Amino acid sequence: MKPSDVSTLPDGVPEALEAEGIEEFYPPQAAAVEAGVADGRSVVASVPTASGKTLIAELAMLSSVAAGGKALYIVPLRALASEKKAEFERWEEFGIDVGVSTGNYDSDGEWLATRDIIVATSEKVDSLIRNGAPWVRDLTCVVSDEVHLVDDSGRGPTLEVTLAKLRKINRDLQVVALSATVGNAGEVAEWLDAELVESDWRPIELKMGVHYGNAINFDDGSQREVPVERGEKQTAALVADALDETVDGDRGSSLVFVNSRRNAEAAAKRLADVTAKRLERGETTELEQLASEIRDDSDTETSDDLADCVRNGAAFHHAGLSATQRSLVEDAFRDRLIKCICATPTLAAGVNTPARRVVVRDWRRYDGEFGGMKPLDTLEVHQMMGRAGRPGLDPYGEAVLLAKDRDTMDELFERYVWADPEEVQSKLAAEPALRTHVLATVASGFATTREGLLEFLDRTLYASQTDDDARLAQVTDRVLEYLEANDFLERDGDSLTATGIGHTVSRLYLDPMSAAEIIDGLRSGVEEGGAGAGSSPRPSKTNAGAEAPADADAGFVTGSDLAGGDDGGDSDEAESTPTVTPLGLYHLVARTPDMYQLYLKSGDRETYEEEFYEREPEFLGDAPSEFEDVAWEDWLAALKTARLLEDWASELDEDVITDRYGVGPGDIRGKVDTAEWLLGAAEQLAGELDLGVNIAIREAKKRVEYGVGEELLDLAGVRGVGRKRARRLFEAGIETRAELREADKSVVLGALRGREKTAENVLQAAGRQDPSMEGVTEDAAASAAAASTDGDEEESGQATFGDFS
Ligand code: ADP
Repeated sequence: MKPSDVSTLPDGVPEALEAEGIEEFYPPQAAAVEAGVADGRSVVASVPTASGKTLIAELAMLSSVAAGGKALYIVPLRALASEKKAEFERWEEFGIDVGVSTGNYDSDGEWLATRDIIVATSEKVDSLIRNGAPWVRDLTCVVSDEVHLVDDSGRGPTLEVTLAKLRKINRDLQVVALSATVGNAGEVAEWLDAELVESDWRPIELKMGVHYGNAINFDDGSQREVPVERGEKQTAALVADALDETVDGDRGSSLVFVNSRRNAEAAAKRLADVTAKRLERGETTELEQLASEIRDDSDTETSDDLADCVRNGAAFHHAGLSATQRSLVEDAFRDRLIKCICATPTLAAGVNTPARRVVVRDWRRYDGEFGGMKPLDTLEVHQMMGRAGRPGLDPYGEAVLLAKDRDTMDELFERYVWADPEEVQSKLAAEPALRTHVLATVASGFATTREGLLEFLDRTLYASQTDDDARLAQVTDRVLEYLEANDFLERDGDSLTATGIGHTVSRLYLDPMSAAEIIDGLRSGVEEGGAGAGSSPRPSKTNAGAEAPADADAGFVTGSDLAGGDDGGDSDEAESTPTVTPLGLYHLVARTPDMYQLYLKSGDRETYEEEFYEREPEFLGDAPSEFEDVAWEDWLAALKTARLLEDWASELDEDVITDRYGVGPGDIRGKVDTAEWLLGAAEQLAGELDLGVNIAIREAKKRVEYGVGEELLDLAGVRGVGRKRARRLFEAGIETRAELREADKSVVLGALRGREKTAENVLQAAGRQDPSMEGVTEDAAASAAAASTDGDEEESGQATFGDFS
């Protein structure tokens, strides 16, 4: 069967697919077409990695759109959303509009109404439904990628409930669920009323095996000799061996999976020695260039380390890299320029980066709940192994586990090579999951009574898998009590309604527990501030008055500094002005369940205990006692996270922060994004409850958003300026957007290091009439003043992502 046999596709698409090299459907694709995937029928496709699942989804979506419908593609990770969008954009020439919905969880994405295919995460879709996005009703086809992740206790319930909601909104909805091979795909198909396409067919043969001693022992009984020299690591020998074997002039690439970022970096550094020795002439120049692109992307030690590896033909890949760095590495690997990637398992789930040889070096991972190193699931290891083999390039793919002794080799064969993957099991009947979803289900009108609620929950995978209906009812009742006690829901006899604040919490996409924590914290801050009557925790640094002081300490702003601002009407008396500092707010949002806190390392406890006592008056709400071990530890971890945010908002360089907290640049971005969202939510809640702290919250939020001290907020808000340029302009004497419009151009040019194009863009964004820099010369004094902010860092066009805000 081939694309032109599918009559439901838009005109021109079958030819385009065939031109792409899809001459024949892969067998699972043909089976999906036979099951009606291009005719609006629901299908669950449970097939191995890299066997063409995306095309199955495309056949469904394109046919659906051709019939006048609208399709939604749900991705498992936010990082994949733009990649999938880019992939689907090749259909735009056939009149298919593609949109991606990322970003904040509090809009209804109205503009998406005009798109034919929409890509989003399940959290985003859930939030669009909560915000009443009208186009959701127009959907005719929904694809759920990596649907086996309903098994994940963190994010699975959202996917499960979202699919249930979408199917309730539109009874004729076509659901196409793509899954790795799992033990019980039939149950998933039954839940979704879908046809099941199950297959273990692969486009290229996969040999799985275990390296032990001087050879790989494969599952088909064959052996490949790969001797390990004295003092050499098994992984290094395997990567070298793949590279030394040339097939049609092509050296074999390797993908090495390890269990932590640190290990990924360390392994890549070591393997760079192996790849460096095997580079061809010409490749070194290209690699140098790639390395410098990576270095330019962000000024951190991680970038430098990555660039050093890349120069030598190796790379590491983990969630701490920036999106640009990730895609540079992936592309160069697909182009065969990078010979070896050491990755954490996130790579296995995501993009298509096949290698001739996959080495699963670590098959155990630290697990706090488990209390030690826990073996990975078979499903996860199979997904990593499935990345082996590049169709058209390799004779077959090889996936290798490592053993140091015979017993381990036997165990690995049992556990992974011969074993079937696990079954997916719903994780919905847990309180944290239901807390969120029960409130949202009631607030968005999917249920108005307890009975209705239970009936709705009956559409979930959980309900279809369990014989114990009582358990779900029990947890639901506990959750209803919690929501009622916190004034998010009201119960009148049998009927359930969300309160005003309950609606807001649901729309803001907050975990109700986060909302409760934020509300309590803000209330206590307001009360204490009132009692303190203008006194503040660090008197030397405050500066009360109607105007925000330009020289306020970067780490410290009190509500009283801001009481005279435009929205300050809430707080009418100086005596009741709350004392709310950025650190207090950062800590408040960092201790909610919606923030993934930084981990306390050994030694951190003392450091942050000391910080805690030093800054105790700033915390909002009651701190636990030091003797409540878990709660205390949590409080300190939140403090560490809050300190990172405060450092960022005080213009500390990215590399100082990554060093101080042991994180990557991607992590700073992640924490900043989450803090921005949670502070935005806090601002709304405070407004609705009339707490009079909105301005303090907004300012703390703006400061993390831009990564600047208070006095730079105005400048940093100008497009193209960002934290570093704002500081340079400020030091050169230009302190506001208004001043930028009037300033001497030579001063602007001097402050911006003589970059004319940049200066013009900045002036234009600030609203200047005549932004042209033609004939302007740099003012030497301005450039000297600006340069004083640079320390000894290297010149680079856009030194950090903060410059892009
Ligand atoms: P999965 O989502 O199952 O991991 P992908 O959809 O990413 O796999 O497909 C892997 C690769 O196979 C892609 O590069 C895709 O273009 C290619 N491919 C898919 N179907 C076919 C086909 N019928 N013929 C040739 N190549 C195909």
